[in-house]
Amino acid sequence: MERGSKFYAGKANTLYEVLDDSGDVLPNVIEMECTDRISAGDGDKKDVVEGKGYANNLVSTLLFKKFAAAGVPTHFISEGTTPASKFVRWAVMIPLEVIGRDFAAGSFCRRYGVEKGRAFDPVLVEFTYKNDALHDPLITDDAAVQLGLVTKDDVDKIYVYMDVINKVASDFFAELGLTLVDFKVEFGYNEGTGELMLCDEFSQDTCRLWDADGNSVDKDLFREGKSGKAVSDVYQKLVSMLEAME
Ligand code: UDP
Repeated sequence: MERGSKFYAGKANTLYEVLDDSGDVLPNVIEMECTDRISAGDGDKKDVVEGKGYANNLVSTLLFKKFAAAGVPTHFISEGTTPASKFVRWAVMIPLEVIGRDFAAGSFCRRYGVEKGRAFDPVLVEFTYKNDALHDPLITDDAAVQLGLVTKDDVDKIYVYMDVINKVASDFFAELGLTLVDFKVEFGYNEGTGELMLCDEFSQDTCRLWDADGNSVDKDLFREGKSGKAVSDVYQKLVSMLEAME
């Protein structure tokens, strides 16, 4: 497989067509490259974090392989043509962000007035409706089904997958001495087979990780005003830990 033309540049990922050996565009595969771009607050705050694309791609790739091994279908196919990219199955995305929480943080604390760090077991699952005009509001699973965003069967599968994803990712980060606090994932349908699969990413941009002293090792640093350089150093620390493990 070879990289073809760029067809989409999103907030954190750039997407490319993929060519087969004869140079024809493969219909159900794309190459997804994580970039060093970072944004927060509905895109109001933007910067570049050197090495972030590589860091996020590394974490996502390691985790997606583990999720698949644990029985969660994913869009991941193989490593891509650069260290920050991968080949993935093209998906029709479900317009939901699915959030898993092991400990209270961020919007959950603001919404319910609970203290940061309160533990949840089993993982607490929430859905938000991906809609820029509405600012991604929280949505119940029933509303998501009734609005035709996802089927009831797939909601049931998503709850099962969220348990597995949470367990696999929590164990993975625990080995590095980090606590997985919460995370956001997205699901889509395989365009060829219609199968529900985990898509997008699982990285320091889309989860909260606390070290043994409760310090953030994730995008919260940027949300809280740290410079791109400071954020880069922290993302790099996780890369070094992962590379040391290999
Ligand atoms: N999250 C994300 N993208 C979003 C919103 C949230 O990746 O657009 C992640 C976030 O990094 C955290 C989890 O989802 O790990 C829960 O975020 P929360 O609902 O607490 O919102 P926040 O406080 O980040 O606005």
